[in-house]
Formats: sequence, C-alpha cells, structure tokens
Amino acid sequence: MLRLPPFEYHTPRTVEEAMSLAASYGAEARFVAGGTDLIPNMKHRLFEPEHLIALSFIDEMKGVRMADGVLEIGAAESLTGVAESTDVQRWVPALAEAARHVAGPQIRNRGTIGGNLCLDTRCTYYNQTEFWRRSLGFCLKKDGDVCHVTRVGRKCVAAHSADTPPVLMVLDAEVVIQGPGETRTVPVRDLFIADGIRNIRVELGELLTRIRIPIHSRTTCVYRKLRQRQAVDFPLLTVAVAADADPDGGWSRVRGVVTGLGSRPRELTGWDAIHEGGPLDDDVVDALAERAHAQCRPLENHIVDPDWRRAMVPVEVRRALTELRAAAT
Ligand SMILES: Cc1cc2nc3c(=O)[nH]c(=O)nc-3n(C[C@H](O)[C@H](O)[C@H](O)COP(=O)(O)OP(=O)(O)OC[C@H]3O[C@@H](n4cnc5c(N)ncnc54)[C@H](O)[C@@H]3O)c2cc1C
Ligand code: SF4
Repeated sequence: MLRLPPFEYHTPRTVEEAMSLAASYGAEARFVAGGTDLIPNMKHRLFEPEHLIALSFIDEMKGVRMADGVLEIGAAESLTGVAESTDVQRWVPALAEAARHVAGPQIRNRGTIGGNLCLDTRCTYYNQTEFWRRSLGFCLKKDGDVCHVTRVGRKCVAAHSADTPPVLMVLDAEVVIQGPGETRTVPVRDLFIADGIRNIRVELGELLTRIRIPIHSRTTCVYRKLRQRQAVDFPLLTVAVAADADPDGGWSRVRGVVTGLGSRPRELTGWDAIHEGGPLDDDVVDALAERAHAQCRPLENHIVDPDWRRAMVPVEVRRALTELRAAAT
C-alpha cells in the first residue's frame, strides 16, 4: 500500500484567505483542488508539501455564468459540473465533451477544471513509485540528472496530458490568475511552455481563479480524444479544432491544437497559408491534416509506440475537421 507523506490540511473559505495561507507557508505549501492528480503524485513521493491548501470550500471559485458575451467558469468547478452545465452545453459543447472524456465519473466528480489546466506532465519514467524510480537512478524531472527518454541533453519532454486546454485554446479563452500582489489575465494559448519539469506560467503560490471564454455565435469547435480504452485513460492524443462560419457558407480562421504528445499543447501552425477562406473541401482538409503530421514528432515518453501516435495525428485531425464541417450543415 502506498502511504501519503504527513501534511497539514487547511480549509480557507475565500480566495483572500487561501492567498494569505500561501504567503505564510511559501514553497512548503501546495493548493489542492480535487486532489485526483496531486494525491497520487504525493503517494509516489513526486511532491511532499508540508501544507495543503484546499480549494474545495471556496464558493467564489465555483459555478458557471454567462455575462456580456463571456462564459465564466470558476477554476474549482468540478469536471462533472462543467460537462453537465446547460450553459457550457449550449455555448461551448466541445468543452462539455472534453470534460466528459476525462478519466471516469468518480474522478470527474472530484477533479476540477482548474486542476486540469494545472495538471503535471506525465511520463513512463516519472509516474511510478519511489522504489521503481530509485531502481532506475531517478530522472531529470525529479531527484535525478538524466532523461531516460532523450538520453542526451538536459530537457524534460514529459507529456502534457490534459483534455480541456486544447479546446480552451482554440476558443480564445483566458484565465484569471491571482498572485500575491496583483491579479492578471493570461490567454490559455500563452499559458504553457515547452518544459516538462514545470510547463505552466503559474508560479507556486499563484491561484488560478476563473476561466473566461468569449462566445461567438459563428464559431464551431470540435474535440476528439485518442486513448487505449474508451474510459478512464489519459489521452494518447487530444485534438481540438475550431473555425468561424462565413455568411456565404465558407469558413475563416481555421485553427487547431493537439496535445498528449510533447510537454505543452501544440498549436497547429501554417494553416492560414493552406486555407485562406472559403469551403473546407476534402483536399483542404487533407492538406491541413498532413501539415499537422509534419509538425508533430512524439518521443518515447509513453508506453504506446510514438510512431503510431504520430501516424494517428493526421487521422484524428482529418476526423475533427470533417465533423466540424458536418456540424455546420
Ligand atoms: C485514473 C486517472 C485517470 C485520469 N484521466 C485523465 C484524463 O483522461 N484526462 C485528463 O485531462 N486528466 C486525467 N486525470 C488527471 C486528473 O484527474 C484531472 O486532470 C483533473 O482535472 C485534475 O484536477 P484536480 O482538481 O483533481 O487537480 P489536483 O490534483 O487538485 O491538482 C493538480 C495540480 O494543480 C494545482 N492546482 C489545482 N487547482 C489549482 C488552481 N485553481 N490554481 C493553481 N493551482 C491549482 C495543484 O496544486 C496541483 O499541482 C486522471 C487521473 C487519474 C487518477
Ligand atoms: S521526459 Fe525524461 S526527464 Fe522528463 S519525466 Fe520522462 S524521463 Fe524524466
């Protein structure tokens, strides 16, 4: 049986109280939302914080509301709450789909959308017990000095494996981050960096409080997930695509994001040059899918063969764009 290391548990009722606790305990503290990622990681001794600051008692960080054309979701809202919200289903159904595809029902009842955005990266050589990792001499991300995936260099390439960020990125969502002295707003597309050790521009002690999604009636978004089984599993590949429908039946601003491969969600670039507007016919869809394939080169950070995962990129992108086109008709 894996035991948790000892820690003190704090239950603030407001964001202000949570920030004051975070300031008092500094690097010894971690926020815990649903705990569905942090607690297993603590059992594996990947993190051993002396203080856990719970977010589940802070009502101002929960709920979904639509105001002035912006859908606002509290970061401590559960994934079940997001998937079942009538506002999310009506205005951004792809986000409801993404939330519904995370793990299984029990985990979605506890796990939050904020925790999903802040999810730690994952790797075959990292998400293991301390005993297992010690027998291999640990690795760069935790306690060691070598990366067993790249074997050279000093870069961690553990995989970003969260389902909701790609959808939030193609929908131009932003997050509100409460720092010790100020509040800032960051587009989700600028939130992640290509560093598997810590891939997010949210400092420890900063709190992600809300997610804001601008609603545009012309925008259609589609989410797809590739995984080993049809339940519980983390993504091998997540694809989100979105585009704006033009009055003449064409499309503009076709955009896509994939994740589950490298240490951050990858924006698919070069699509403007392939599709400048007009219909998304089969040739255009094929060209966009092939461009995505050329851009993605997963490494052996997962037990599933990277060549197969790469080969599935154009397949899933093509399926997503075909669904998007069909959604409009
Ligand atoms: C069996 C299993 C299967 C899973 N499958 C999937 C899957 O298919 N797809 C997927 O995306 N995830 C999956 N997960 C991971 C996880 O359950 C979800 O990502 C979930 O959304 C994490 O949210 P949480 O509230 O439980 O985060 P926590 O575990 O509470 O926190 C995760 C991290 O985020 C930080 N954090 C949390 N909230 C905030 C905040 N508001 N501000 C700042 N920092 C914060 C914590 O300090 C911690 O570092 C799975 C987990 C398990 C155990
Ligand atoms: S990618 Fe390398 S450094 Fe990162 S967790 Fe895996 S083995 Fe460790």
